[in-house]
Amino acid sequence: MTLDLPRTTDEILTTDLHLVQSFADLNALKQSGARTAIVAAEGAMVRDSDGNELIDGIGGLWCVNVGHGRREIIEAITEQLQTLDFYSTFYSFTHPAAAALSAKLAELAPGSLNKVYFGNSGSVANDSAVRILHHYYNRLGQPKKRLVLSRQGAYHGSTYLSIAMTTPEYSDGWSRAEGLVHYLRKPHYWHEGDGMTEAEFLDALMEDMRSRIETLGAENIACFVAEPIMGAGGVIVPPKGYHKRALEICRDYEIKYISDEVVTAFGRLGHFFASEAVFDIQPDIINTAKGLTSGYQPLSATIMSDEIHEVISGPGGSFLHGMTYSGHPAAAAAGLANIALMERDEIPQKAQVTGKLFEETLKGLEDIEIVGEVRGSHFMIGIELVKDKATKTLFDPDLNIGMMVAQKAQSKGLIARPLGHILILSPTLIMTPELIARTGAILRESILEVMASLKAA
Ligand code: PMP
Repeated sequence: MTLDLPRTTDEILTTDLHLVQSFADLNALKQSGARTAIVAAEGAMVRDSDGNELIDGIGGLWCVNVGHGRREIIEAITEQLQTLDFYSTFYSFTHPAAAALSAKLAELAPGSLNKVYFGNSGSVANDSAVRILHHYYNRLGQPKKRLVLSRQGAYHGSTYLSIAMTTPEYSDGWSRAEGLVHYLRKPHYWHEGDGMTEAEFLDALMEDMRSRIETLGAENIACFVAEPIMGAGGVIVPPKGYHKRALEICRDYEIKYISDEVVTAFGRLGHFFASEAVFDIQPDIINTAKGLTSGYQPLSATIMSDEIHEVISGPGGSFLHGMTYSGHPAAAAAGLANIALMERDEIPQKAQVTGKLFEETLKGLEDIEIVGEVRGSHFMIGIELVKDKATKTLFDPDLNIGMMVAQKAQSKGLIARPLGHILILSPTLIMTPELIARTGAILRESILEVMASLKAA
């Protein structure tokens, strides 16, 4: 069936008045409507409804890792839907695609992480992990072990539980699961480590973690959750050794370690998973989504250790948790084809080289007066814009400096994501050296032009 979709920019933006966007200024949208309609995509590029070709500098939303328009994935999804459109994985049902993808993830994930619970978003993966651990501790006769340790600056999702696991700024006064989640210090040396060496800053963070655990009581804490590199919190790379030491503390106090690899997995940092390959840890649970299917279908995975599974699968009743679309056949097929493509074309390995080039190219922007810090790793980069680099003074938030630069960049052919005064770049992993150079050049021009306009004003 060919769908009768709105085609022109006017038609799309008028029809769009019924759509409620995510993380948007709804009032501004009511006044002026959506800004851009993306109508097509191929490789590392997208096209808007006015025919502009743009570098997809944010990979959809940190997710289109293998690039857009991959026939192999589209065909695998189509073939799966033609054979089995839908069946659930509730009760004792299974189907070939979900079974095969769970086995593949067990093979790719570190150590004893061999059991996979599928969901349909990163938020659900994080909710599921906490629910699974509550179930686990109930089974062990420790029902008081419920609290979650998270960090200032973390982003873990937008369901009621995962937003509570997220840094409080994102709740904007809305109610949240009060008292359940406690926030440790943000591990951002550049802003918070003044007067200390990086090693001293790390000691201070670990001291904070231990003292919070002592205050709350380890007998009340279920888990610690951490992104290997914080994403939506501004791309924060913690001090070297942070995750290893945090895991040691978790082990000392019998607290489970959840690694939120919704962004960092599937090649973004050059490996299928970053926890072990980059940060040298074997967490108890890895959550992932986004790059798992490169965005071709919504899917997440909560990958747990054999030990956790052994407890929740012991005698004593059912596992009372499930989403209708957990392990949806089309999504599982997308995941399998996506991983097969990554393995065939060695996409994570190649991203080790091109990702480093991307990182170094953007690092080069630090010579600009208002670029305070360019941070991140490989295809996960944040550019922090500051009014005064020496004092690290920020621009007035009302200026919306990130948006000013992002709009300028879009007019020059690049989509970047503004996050307050920070610009996020998380493109497809198939960026060529030419596209990487163009991205760097557009960002430089855009930042310089915005800087000049601010000076002129
Ligand atoms: N965890 C992390 C680290 C994320 O970056 C995100 C989304 N950006 C999520 C969880 C939530 O994923 P989703 O939007 O698919 O619910």
